[in-house]
Amino acid sequence: MVQTGHALRVPDVRQDPRFPSLVEMERFSWLGVPLIAKGELIGAIALEKTEADYYSAEHIQVVTTFAGQAAVAIENARLYEESLRRATELDERSQRLALLNRLSAELSRSLDTDHILALTANELAQALNVSVVSAVLFGQDGQPELRAEAPERDLPPGTTLPGSPLFERLRETLGIFSAADIHAEPELAPLLPFLNERGSQSLLALPLATGQELHGVLFLQTSYAYRYSLPEIELARTIGNQSAIAIQNARLFGETRRLTEELEERVQLRTAELVQEHHNTETLLRIITELSASLDMSQVLNRTLAVLNEASAAEQSAILLDRGGQIEVYHRAGLEFAPPPGEGESGNGRKPWQPEKSIAAWVTRLRKPTLVNDLPEDGRWSQDDANRVPYRSVIAVPLILGEEVLGSLQLYHRQAGQFISKQLDLVEAAARQISIAINNAELFGLIRDQSERLGGMLRDQQIEASRSRAILEAVADGVLVTDSSGRITLFNASAQSILDLQSAQVMGQSLDQFSGLFGKAAQTWMRTIRTWSRDPGIYRPGDTYAEQIMLDNGRVVSIHLAPVIWRNDFLGTVSIFRDITADVKVDRLKSEFVANVSHELRTPMTSIKGYVEILLMGAAGPLADQQTHFLRIVKSNTERLSVLVNDLLDVSRIEAGRVTLSWQPLDLKEIAEDVASDLVRRSREENKPMSIHLELAPALPRVDGDLERVSQVLWNLVSNAYNYTPENGHIEVRIRSLDETEVQLDVQDNGIGIALRDQKRIFERFYRGEDPLVLATAGTGLGLSIVKTLVEMHHGRIWFSSSGIRGEGSIFSFTLPLRQTEE
Ligand code: ADP
Repeated sequence: MVQTGHALRVPDVRQDPRFPSLVEMERFSWLGVPLIAKGELIGAIALEKTEADYYSAEHIQVVTTFAGQAAVAIENARLYEESLRRATELDERSQRLALLNRLSAELSRSLDTDHILALTANELAQALNVSVVSAVLFGQDGQPELRAEAPERDLPPGTTLPGSPLFERLRETLGIFSAADIHAEPELAPLLPFLNERGSQSLLALPLATGQELHGVLFLQTSYAYRYSLPEIELARTIGNQSAIAIQNARLFGETRRLTEELEERVQLRTAELVQEHHNTETLLRIITELSASLDMSQVLNRTLAVLNEASAAEQSAILLDRGGQIEVYHRAGLEFAPPPGEGESGNGRKPWQPEKSIAAWVTRLRKPTLVNDLPEDGRWSQDDANRVPYRSVIAVPLILGEEVLGSLQLYHRQAGQFISKQLDLVEAAARQISIAINNAELFGLIRDQSERLGGMLRDQQIEASRSRAILEAVADGVLVTDSSGRITLFNASAQSILDLQSAQVMGQSLDQFSGLFGKAAQTWMRTIRTWSRDPGIYRPGDTYAEQIMLDNGRVVSIHLAPVIWRNDFLGTVSIFRDITADVKVDRLKSEFVANVSHELRTPMTSIKGYVEILLMGAAGPLADQQTHFLRIVKSNTERLSVLVNDLLDVSRIEAGRVTLSWQPLDLKEIAEDVASDLVRRSREENKPMSIHLELAPALPRVDGDLERVSQVLWNLVSNAYNYTPENGHIEVRIRSLDETEVQLDVQDNGIGIALRDQKRIFERFYRGEDPLVLATAGTGLGLSIVKTLVEMHHGRIWFSSSGIRGEGSIFSFTLPLRQTEE
């Protein structure tokens, strides 16, 4: 029937196995008609009859029509019911919406958590018709706190709830918890006292959560067992969620406000700090300005400490310096209540206790600042003593410069607790500046003393130098000073007149520029200066140079030259000139006079000698013995006299420059043999046996020289050897060419020799030895000096050697240059 939508007639149900229950009830006829409304099967009508085969087609028609009517009626009734239901539902919804709207508007108006919770609880109580709503929030420590209830009741602040597994569960699931009967839920056991107090039977716990965070729980309670419907739960949840959002907002707002306040507070704090820092910087700047204003420490420190006192509200401040372990008050400024340094001697002669010194010792030893709040209370210093001083608050910082601690800077106040640790920074910064200033001032003092001393020394030196210069200018001798590079740095007035040069012409010039002016004679002098200047290492201590030169203008000048050496440094040279033209002239006149006299003496001497010899020969008649004896004495003295006269003549001639050499090639062998034979004759005549031996190198080259003078030189040396050797002595003459340039002649004897101490005087004029043999021999002491001059006139050299021991004799040697063929 359902499938076809048509009526179905079963005439006899006994014939059909599908109707066992009808058979049982003995209703054998069955007719079914479907109820169809708007083409849809909504039900069916069934008719049953005891008699079999009862329903006819007519029956079917009637029933079908009736069924059609019934189906329409049913449909209408349904539609009516449906519209009715919709109308109530709409009403409820709009009510709920209105409620939620109102709630959310109210919630969003408030940022006070407790107000929000109270509002929520009230709303829930009204909307769901529950007996009690309790709002619980978790505090900072996670502890559940009861914050609001509806109906409203007075809550003691901070009513906490016992912990319960329920809270844990809600925290994990963030879902709801519903219990129709609270006594049946073991999880609620801890909360039962709380719930019982409110006469609750059922409980709906709603989480107050945003995101994953559970802020609290709403407990909805009824005093009877009650199971909430889904819409109720939904409504409760919605309200709960709105409340949670509002709480979160309130909390965020609270947080933001707190942060803002904190920030403001910090800004204020920082501003105060900045103001302080600015103030400190300004003070420091003033201090630095004051400190650098002058080097007069007392004035500067007065003003600096005044600035510091003002900036740190101190009444007095002091600087104490450590002078080699002894601490002294160096400066004090501000109100005068402590005795000035060194005063305030106490009655019993004992110095009053000066705590500033102990404090200074403390800070300099530990190298760190200290703040004393109340001196008598401070355990570091003895109370009795501290009570005697007028101040109670102290700031003390060390004065440190690099590694060195100079002392301490201290600020005082008569009242206790005047200073705070924040002030230490400023005082320390000031201390640094003060250390630098004190150090600078002391350095300045040191430098000033030193420069004054140096200045004094310089002045003395300048005076000394100008005095020396004045002396040098005034002396009659010419003085010429050159510096290390050979430039002329001093040329005095005498030098100007001797050398005929103006000081302006030569000062500062190199000496080399004047070589032309001084002429040939000065060459060695200038060369010596040049060599010393170029290579001071060449100079050996003791080297000096002295020379006589003849200037182009005819003047004769003696020059003494010495280097100026200071601690191995060659500083230059000093040359002293002396005009000896007049001396030389006088000498020459003297020599000429002596030469003339000697010459004039020779003629009478010759005649005396001649007549004495004639008399001795008996040409004027026989002589008595005594007469012969006297005549011999006359003869011997005459000979002595003639030697003297001859020597004097030679010397004076040489000095007067009157001796000229007549140069010619010489045969030295011939000269030596002549001298030797003369000596043999003399030895025989004087009856003083002496052997003489000649050792001549074969093929001796000829030398250039004056025959008479070279013979005189050799004769002189040989006769000295003869004179100063006792009889039976031995003399040897050796001649050999040394090299290509000269020939050397040696005269050796085995006589008395020359004592070491006399050796340097041998060539001096008129020097004679003191040996008895010398005294017994006729001599003038002029021989060797003449010999030396003659050898040098021949451009040769002369020297001797002797051990000074009697019997070992001596060797006199001289050289003569070989004949230069070109010449
Ligand atoms: P003189 O012979 O007239 O004394 P010299 O000038 O020739 O003067 O000699 C000076 C001095 O030198 C001599 O007095 C003598 O003391 C010393 N003397 C010179 N030659 C010798 C010598 N061969 N041996 C020792 N003494 C000598």
